[in-house]
Amino acid sequence: MQVIKLQNSPYDANAYLVDGRILVDVGMDAHAIISQLENIIEPGKLETIVLTHCHYDHSGGAAQVAAAFGAKIAIHRDDVSLLNNARGSASLLFGMKAPSIVPDILLSGGETFGELEVIHTPGHTPGGICLYSARAKALFSGDTVFPDGSFGRTDLAGGNATKLVESIRKLMLLDVSVMYPGHEDIVNRDANEQIRMSLMMASQYS
Ligand SMILES: [Zn+2]
Ligand SMILES: [Zn+2]
Repeated sequence: MQVIKLQNSPYDANAYLVDGRILVDVGMDAHAIISQLENIIEPGKLETIVLTHCHYDHSGGAAQVAAAFGAKIAIHRDDVSLLNNARGSASLLFGMKAPSIVPDILLSGGETFGELEVIHTPGHTPGGICLYSARAKALFSGDTVFPDGSFGRTDLAGGNATKLVESIRKLMLLDVSVMYPGHEDIVNRDANEQIRMSLMMASQYS
């Protein structure tokens, strides 16, 4: 599995291009993402934009990038009602009005995109997902878990601390060698241990 972390601003969520045809999250700056993708892939080769959840820092540029490449947008069905809502998408935190994103694929969990499997991990938002490749032992963790025992906040619309702990417990069942979080740096070592720390820390706050 080939993963390229695209460049964007520190306010943006991480955007990862997987095997040249799947984009995991977009960030807010569609122009930055489009110009990089144009240098890496042929037009029409981007198949799917998978949003880990509805928040604007992950989804803000999705409609423009999808239009530029003819890609489909996938998001969990439980986050759809929040996606284009100023409070639900937290766009107001970024001083922006809510986007207008029309999802093409509504997820429930268990779907696959290439070798990535969708795992429903509610808690940060109701329809938060992670993506896991068993072959590559790679986890795209969205805003569910971050490096060094950090975890997603549960005080925004639809957040639920109890569900977040249950979701992190699900991630504990996976063997993870590389973790690609929604923010901060890629984790190349001790990923299982860092997820275990996140579970411990999140459990204390639920
Ligand atoms: Zn985020
Ligand atoms: Zn978020």
